[in-house]
Amino acid sequence: MTLEAPYPELDDLLEMMGEAGRRLSDIEATEGAAGNISICLRWPIEPRTRFPLVEEIALPQAVPELAGVSFLVSGSGRRLREIIDEPTASIACIVVSEGGRTGKLYSSFHRRFERVTSEFNSHLAVHYDQILTSGTNFHAIIHAQPMHLTYLSHIPRYQDEAYLNTHLLRWQPETIINLPEGIGFIPFRLPGSPELMVGNVECLRTHRIVIWAKHGVMARSDISVKRATDRVEYAETAAKYEYLNLTTGELGEGLSVEEIRSICQTFEVQQNIF
Ligand SMILES: [Zn+2]
Repeated sequence: MTLEAPYPELDDLLEMMGEAGRRLSDIEATEGAAGNISICLRWPIEPRTRFPLVEEIALPQAVPELAGVSFLVSGSGRRLREIIDEPTASIACIVVSEGGRTGKLYSSFHRRFERVTSEFNSHLAVHYDQILTSGTNFHAIIHAQPMHLTYLSHIPRYQDEAYLNTHLLRWQPETIINLPEGIGFIPFRLPGSPELMVGNVECLRTHRIVIWAKHGVMARSDISVKRATDRVEYAETAAKYEYLNLTTGELGEGLSVEEIRSICQTFEVQQNIF
């Protein structure tokens, strides 16, 4: 998937990041300053119209093939729900320099953060891997902390990907349609660690959303940041149903395997969970 010209303008992208942050806050997936957002775009933009300050930074890993590529990234400690009020206070633009080891970090005079998100190593690694694989010219990533998904990741039997998916994807027809690869699962890894980064790269090759056990989720989209937000919302809604079912003594039967298979047949969904 690649976006076609005319490409979204910088202000449109900032606005969509703001709307994504607000929605994630509405579904209670970004308490305090939890969560982070980044988008990667491969068409040329002029960052200085919104981000006049510039400094050189080392990138968490070398990304030589991404020289000239731009990232819009939320700042460390910023609240996702406040992006919409003043995007440049919470977001920086990073343009990868020749050679891919460093980048120019563009920011605003209104900037209210020192560094970009501490999870930028994972964001960059996943963007890089996806772009090398698919050749997309746009890629969005969200880390959020939806309560029900995160809670279920504390229960041992939901730490098994097959169990997790057959139980969560049975409550609404939309879930399998929007998450046909299901939800990936990474065991607990330290926030911001190289181990979490490696887990994200591998798991997001085969999934559109992955649970970070006992922490939250990471979702991606090569269409829009709001599409990535939708994925968080579909998965969290599924987890809410599952939680509801557990608290009522498992009264619900869920969609049967046959019902899910017929949904997939009708909507031409390729899946191998059910
Ligand atoms: Zn987090």
